[in-house]
Amino acid sequence: MPTLIAGGTVVTAASTYEADVLVDGGQIVQIGRDLGVEDADRIDAAGKYVFPGAIDVHTHLDTPWGDKYVTADDWRVGSIGAACGGTTTIVDFALQAKGQSLREAIDGWHAKAEGKAVVDYGFHAMVMDLTESVRNEIPVMIEQEGIPSFKVFMAYKGVVQADDETLLRTMLIAGEHGGLTMVHAENGDAVYVIQERFAEQGKLGIEYWPESRPPELEAEAAHRAIVLAGIANAPLYIVHVSSALAVDEIAQARSRGAQVYGETCPQYLVLSKERYLEPGTDAARYVMAPPLRDASNQEPLWQALASGSLQVVATDHSAWPIKDHKDQSLDDFRYIIQGAPGIETRLPVLYTYGVAAGRMTLNRFVETTATAPARLFGLYPQKGDIAIGADADLLVWDPAVEWTLSVNGLHGNTDYTTFEGMPVQGAPAAVLSRGRVVVRDREFVGGEGGGRFLHRSPFNPL
Ligand code: MN
Ligand code: MN
Repeated sequence: MPTLIAGGTVVTAASTYEADVLVDGGQIVQIGRDLGVEDADRIDAAGKYVFPGAIDVHTHLDTPWGDKYVTADDWRVGSIGAACGGTTTIVDFALQAKGQSLREAIDGWHAKAEGKAVVDYGFHAMVMDLTESVRNEIPVMIEQEGIPSFKVFMAYKGVVQADDETLLRTMLIAGEHGGLTMVHAENGDAVYVIQERFAEQGKLGIEYWPESRPPELEAEAAHRAIVLAGIANAPLYIVHVSSALAVDEIAQARSRGAQVYGETCPQYLVLSKERYLEPGTDAARYVMAPPLRDASNQEPLWQALASGSLQVVATDHSAWPIKDHKDQSLDDFRYIIQGAPGIETRLPVLYTYGVAAGRMTLNRFVETTATAPARLFGLYPQKGDIAIGADADLLVWDPAVEWTLSVNGLHGNTDYTTFEGMPVQGAPAAVLSRGRVVVRDREFVGGEGGGRFLHRSPFNPL
């Protein structure tokens, strides 16, 4: 049975118009006014927006931290949270352990996700240990495995940090074969030195966390990655940009025509470093890298999203509970598990404090949450747009709903949200994943699994 989404306002990155959308066989088959289809399930979208399903290209589901911990959200729970927040595609990081091949890492991630994910998904390959054989695997990932994006960490010294040789070689090999290199941009060596000094001075309470990873070290790493990508003639994507200084590096590079792209996350747009002054277990919620910044960074981030200097809003979803996880080292921030959940709260935060507050247009909201990630990560035009022949991943958004974010209303396994108590406007009224209705009024109504692995195309953003 086809599904007719009737009477809504269709919003894409390019335009806004009144139309019905007809879905059949998992795809969008017709778009137009008053389609008048009788043999169809009908979703009334009067007074609502119809967006392409959102894409989250920065998540960490079922992911270990050392050998003792694993995130609380597996692929079923995490993808249900995603769907309930309006996200219909997830691209997660398949972590490479030391000595592991990319093949082993990817196979491990397939095993975690298959049969559990309720929306479609893909993987980025992480490159830490760039042995001769791993160098040879990069083209195979792009050309045969549908994995055209590679993550290199410039931070986390002694854990996952890669050196500049690894970074430049990855850029060269990936760039030659249609791959996109992604970096976590912070100078890990310098962070290490600062944190050792803080330890000598007894400054290890959470209130020192942001000072121990200053924005200058994010900007320096971003600059270095941009220079290396330029030398490699390879595209570069900088994840979780948190500071005005790093935005400046990206904006300057782009104005010179560099193939540099940047992502930010809701936490950096609406939260600031005062959170680290809260009592220990509360402050631990916000221990993440980069840290929350001085509030003066927020307007430059919003402006960069509006102007196009930053292209994507993702989440860095990492479901670490406080209890028995983040509360294990409150008097020494160096050993607190880093990261926070966010897969379900991205769109309401961005809609409320971006669109409704007049900082970004509706079209730009769709572009940064769906269309640009689809283009940059080899999913367009199957995902990220409302067009005939595209997958029927659709989000019917009710802009009139006013509600308050709270862990109690969310679907993840974490015992907090960093956005607790935050008033928001707008919510998913219905979410379709390849034509299947998986969410109604923020509640999951789908079944087991149903998500498919997405074999993504090589980098070609045009
Ligand atoms: Mn990171
Ligand atoms: Mn991350």
